[in-house]
Amino acid sequence: MVSPPQPESSATEPVHPQIAGRIGGASPPARLRSLTDAETLKALVGNLREGVYVTNLQGEILDANTAFLDMLGVTSLAELSRINAFDIFVDPEQRVRELELLRQDGAVREFEIEIRRPDGGRRTVLDSCTSVRDIDSEELLFHGVLVDITERKLSERAREESQASLERSTAELQRALSLLSTTLESTADGILVIDASGRVETCNRKFLEMWRLPEELVGTTDQDGLVGVMAEQLKDGDATQRRVKELETNPELETYDEIELKDGRVFERYSIPQRQGGTIMGRVWSYRDVTARKSAEMRLVHDAFHDALTNLPNRALFTDLLARSIGRAKRRDDYAFALLFLDIDRFKVVNDSLGHLIGDHLLVAIARRLERCLRPGDTVARLGGDEFTVLLDDIIDVSDATRIADRIQRELNLPFNLSGQEVFTSASIGIALSTSNYERPDDLLRDADIAMYRAKALGKQRYEVFDSAMHAKAVSQLQLETDLRRALDREEFRIHYQPIFSLISGKVLGFEALVRWQHPQRGTILPDEFVQVAEETGLIVLIGRVVLREACRQLREWQVQFPHQTLTISVNISAKQFRQPDLVDHISRVLTAWDLDPRSLRLEITESAIIENAPAAIEALARLRALGILVDLDDFGTGYSSLGYLHRFDIDALKIDRSFVSNIGEGGENSEIVRTIVNLARGLDMDVIAEGVERPEQLAILRSLGCEKVQGFLFSPPLATESVRALLKARV
Ligand code: C2E
Ligand code: CA
Ligand code: CA
Repeated sequence: MVSPPQPESSATEPVHPQIAGRIGGASPPARLRSLTDAETLKALVGNLREGVYVTNLQGEILDANTAFLDMLGVTSLAELSRINAFDIFVDPEQRVRELELLRQDGAVREFEIEIRRPDGGRRTVLDSCTSVRDIDSEELLFHGVLVDITERKLSERAREESQASLERSTAELQRALSLLSTTLESTADGILVIDASGRVETCNRKFLEMWRLPEELVGTTDQDGLVGVMAEQLKDGDATQRRVKELETNPELETYDEIELKDGRVFERYSIPQRQGGTIMGRVWSYRDVTARKSAEMRLVHDAFHDALTNLPNRALFTDLLARSIGRAKRRDDYAFALLFLDIDRFKVVNDSLGHLIGDHLLVAIARRLERCLRPGDTVARLGGDEFTVLLDDIIDVSDATRIADRIQRELNLPFNLSGQEVFTSASIGIALSTSNYERPDDLLRDADIAMYRAKALGKQRYEVFDSAMHAKAVSQLQLETDLRRALDREEFRIHYQPIFSLISGKVLGFEALVRWQHPQRGTILPDEFVQVAEETGLIVLIGRVVLREACRQLREWQVQFPHQTLTISVNISAKQFRQPDLVDHISRVLTAWDLDPRSLRLEITESAIIENAPAAIEALARLRALGILVDLDDFGTGYSSLGYLHRFDIDALKIDRSFVSNIGEGGENSEIVRTIVNLARGLDMDVIAEGVERPEQLAILRSLGCEKVQGFLFSPPLATESVRALLKARV
């Protein structure tokens, strides 16, 4: 198309021989004649910064100026001649559509097109194009002027992009803000943000709720005002004021406090500085309501140190308080305290007869009464069961302690009304004083306990002050317990038999088995020295079994040796032994083992043993009766002597206590008691046995009162086995 190829084209050279001189359109006015001159035009077009071109429908580029070549990145006309206009277009279809439009008329149309340069670079250009019919060839040609708008486009796009990225970051910021405020509102903590100038910047609703503050707070109150309002609600508002002052001088501190409000709530309070790029912009305070957790914790601590039933301090807490008092007494000469050890008398009777529920009610009621007896500063505790202790703080002398013991006893003697039941109680109280240079709480408790036991032994419902003689006794009792265990192991227990006589026939009816301790060093020890300790330690149960077995074996032996005498054996059964659930079974096994007729066994039990647990006693007595075993009530008259209950029990005989028998004949009063007992027994169809008969005049009176069975030194002391055999032999 282009011929001849020029070696190197310059802008001023003729572009195309065919079109030279034609560009420029209509004829110019005469005055501008020189402009129509082809040379001038060529030069003008050649100098334009806009690219000028001429193509035909096929896309052959027929003419172009230097700027056009530059736009395409083409260096010579020769190179241009190898290029088709359609190929320049990134989208050649667009050019087809443009030409379609341009063909319709000669209007100048503008197109924005993207062109591809041979080197692959792209430019955006604005093409002002029109169609012109060539005068000579009649061919439809297209004249276009190109303005390179690549840079403008780029900067436009850059502007758009920066606009878009601005919008994007604004959206992100908004999202972050909404996330922050949702987070703020969603947390269960109250959050307050104070800026560097001390203004309330923001807070969440929870914060306002927790502090019962109005919403208008944000923006209207500064930190000082707010702290004032908050401090008013706090138990220790000053501490918070101090904290805020401290942060003014130390703004980088992180703080943690636990604060208590006047209404009882407890908050955890954290605060951390809010930093931005290293500078402190303010401070974030967060408040967490930990009231529930705190009170649960306090509840746990309380429970660990208090008795669940009465809510009194328990042993652990009491021991701790006692240790403190001991410490104080050591440091200060003018300080003394007393420890009271209380045991409710016959509490077991209440529990067993009225039920555990009433028993519990009673313990609670006692706890409340004890509290009423104390002065501020004193402590009452429940050690367990029916045992209470009282710590009397700061007393002058022992009379302070005994006065309060008196008051307690008076208080406890008043009847209790428990669910409609009237219940009477009393307490035995042991008192230990701080004066004895105690080191450990346990020692004090032990001594008060010993004194309490003494009070019980002396008849209950009284108090005793501990002295060292009691301690010595307690120690010897402990020793006794050890010795008793050894005695059981070594089978040191023997039995002596005291005959019981019939005043009618003069014959031996049977014997009472009385235990003796054959001590390897001390010789024979009588039961008065060890039965009580055996009872307290429970050893009596084991000793009792030894006695029962041996007594039955012995009786069987005599029955075989002296078949013509109907002999019975009376065995003492202690209260504790009587309470053993397997007592009846045990007895019946022993009887079977020795092939003994149950009717030859009599059991002696005391009133208290059956009164302590009447329902169980009635059942046990019925079972014994069913077996054919007889039961006598020992020491009758010394115990409860509530004659009204007697008919409820299966009792065969009353043994009139030695104390009544020994006094008859002297005053006369005891004769009346014996007469009453004899008449009572007769009325209830029971036998009477008088024990401890020592003198003939006693015998005479007993005989005159109608008492038919007797036992006592007047007839015979308790005898060893050989003497019994001799006695029986002599009587055959
Ligand atoms: P107790 O059951 O009242 O037994 C009678 C006590 O009176 C016996 O004392 C006996 O030796 C004593 N005695 C008998 N006649 C006379 C008398 O004319 N004058 C005086 N002053 N005393 C007389 P002992 O053997 O010392 O027993 C004392 C207590 O020990 C018994 O009193 C009984 O309660 C208890 N005991 C004895 N043996 C046993 C036993 O095997 N088991 C149990 N649980 N207790 C026993
Ligand atoms: Ca007896
Ligand atoms: Ca007796």
